[in-house]
Amino acid sequence: MTRNSHIFETKIPNGPLGDPVVYCLSQKTGEALLLDLGDLSNLSNKEILKVRHVAVSHTHLDHFIGFDRLLRVNVPHFKPFELCGPPGLIKNVQGKMNAYCWNLLEPGQIRIRVREITRDGSITTALLSNDKSFEPEIEPHQEPVFSPDDPPPPAKPAVCAMILDDGTRVESIVLDHGTPVCAYMLQSPSRYYVRDGALDDLGLDAGSWIRELQMAMAAKDSGKLFEIGGKTWRAGDLAARLLNRVQSRSLAYLTDFIFNADNLARLEGAFKGIEKIVCETNYRTTERERATQKKHLTTKQAALIAAVLSARELETFHISNLYTDRIDLAQEEAQEFFEKFRQLDTRDLQDEVAAELADQH
Ligand SMILES: [Zn+2]
Ligand SMILES: [Zn+2]
Repeated sequence: MTRNSHIFETKIPNGPLGDPVVYCLSQKTGEALLLDLGDLSNLSNKEILKVRHVAVSHTHLDHFIGFDRLLRVNVPHFKPFELCGPPGLIKNVQGKMNAYCWNLLEPGQIRIRVREITRDGSITTALLSNDKSFEPEIEPHQEPVFSPDDPPPPAKPAVCAMILDDGTRVESIVLDHGTPVCAYMLQSPSRYYVRDGALDDLGLDAGSWIRELQMAMAAKDSGKLFEIGGKTWRAGDLAARLLNRVQSRSLAYLTDFIFNADNLARLEGAFKGIEKIVCETNYRTTERERATQKKHLTTKQAALIAAVLSARELETFHISNLYTDRIDLAQEEAQEFFEKFRQLDTRDLQDEVAAELADQH
């Protein structure tokens, strides 16, 4: 597992060549999120039982075949779960459910909530349950309400597709892969740190009340009262003078789309300032034509995207089995491009992007 900032530990259970899946474990709640649903045989039942949310990029076989295992592990435990993905996902899940005989289930045993995300940023939610023979019950969409203490709402057409129990938002934008594909970003809730020198400036002593104040702010309880240093403070006022608020876009999951101006503009509008990107690099840059035909990315294109999004880290995966013997070369090539592009100023980077886009035709 790799520790990603303070929020998640992540792992790619099938490695860089296998079916796409990223397992993200929340440090705060122990809840897991799956990014994509390729083959899940490398995850234990225990790990799968922690999964309550799944963000699916699209339902090509290698990204969705793990659905059956997820279902198999959850059904005996009466565990509901939630998926989001591109248009068609409700039908895809219903098709999976209709493939089995379910005569021995108990009421309420299977409840799967499915959200479809469209290119224009609208969401359709349906509940599929054994009580209704898996006929989708469409639910009214409730746009989440964000407070001023939250990170800013996603810029349309990006949407907040799901919110995890630890407050992390799963935000998405739809890209083109010949079929709609959802790219995802994890937006962490605000965290609060004591500003350097602020305690001295206020003449206050450190104590357990700082942790309580941080918790009150994280819980958006800015009206909570604190008795500190012989004075009564509102949490919000004290926090404004004492704490810095940090918001982090910890992880983006980008896979299966063509390198074109529209996809790039959509990503830049929605996911800029990300800490880490897990990105497909199906092909090395010498196979650019093939990548364009198959509507996938090359190492160079993934590196350009990571640089444009000002990412600090790029991890490559979903690499074509053309490179099975020398997978390190494909991975190193992506990192070399990334190191080069991230050093460029905005103008030079734009020139590199323009040259790569021009070479696409
Ligand atoms: Zn794929
Ligand atoms: Zn695909």
